[in-house]
Amino acid sequence: MKYKVKIIIDKIINFFLPRTCFCCGADLKTKSLLCEDCVKKVEPVKGLICERCGVMLKSGGKYCHNCRGSKISKYKCSFIRSALQFNEPTRALIHAFKYEKYLNIAPYFAEVMYRTFRKYPEYREATFLVPVPIYKSRKRKRGFNQAEVLANHLGKICGTPVLNALVRIKNTKSQTKLTRDERKQNILNAFALAKGMESQIKKQAVILIDDVCTTSATLEECALVLKKAGAREVLALTALRE
Ligand SMILES: [Zn+2]
Ligand SMILES: [Zn+2]
Repeated sequence: MKYKVKIIIDKIINFFLPRTCFCCGADLKTKSLLCEDCVKKVEPVKGLICERCGVMLKSGGKYCHNCRGSKISKYKCSFIRSALQFNEPTRALIHAFKYEKYLNIAPYFAEVMYRTFRKYPEYREATFLVPVPIYKSRKRKRGFNQAEVLANHLGKICGTPVLNALVRIKNTKSQTKLTRDERKQNILNAFALAKGMESQIKKQAVILIDDVCTTSATLEECALVLKKAGAREVLALTALRE
């Protein structure tokens, strides 16, 4: 997997020409977003992971602390996997994509997401990719929803159609500085089913798509809405895993 990530990063290199590394600020001799040292730190999610939420586990076991025992039955999102580990360099790439509008990064994220998609037969049953929506004023300001852009590229590769089945009805504050419980509270009731989606979602298995998964609170809120609407199963796939 590592060399594939390298190929993808190399492709990025041919597209852009920032003068300094997006991550550490080092001067760049080649056309790249990241310096050589930072590129080396771009790593796929690997090793032992929680069977439900896909978080990397430090010690053995089937599930992480948050999914263990009776806790597993309360989750609506049954299966989460991510392509790359969230760290300084991958955070910098997502930042460049989302906030500095380097939209050409998206196909490369979609490629690494597709490798994860292919690895797990669980995803093959799904009828739709459903992007996690952002609030409409935020989308207007940014010009795009990063999850939707990723879903569109991934959909083209894997052949699963994209369905904008959800809307964000609450303009939530950024989750980045919040604790696990605060995130859950912040995102509570933030989503609703988009108009006329009931018949499309009913009895279907769908894959939620997002850029980053941290505590999975956002994915869980989305899954709740989709399950209420009659979805048979809700899975999720993200570019990065924190
Ligand atoms: Zn660097
Ligand atoms: Zn877990």
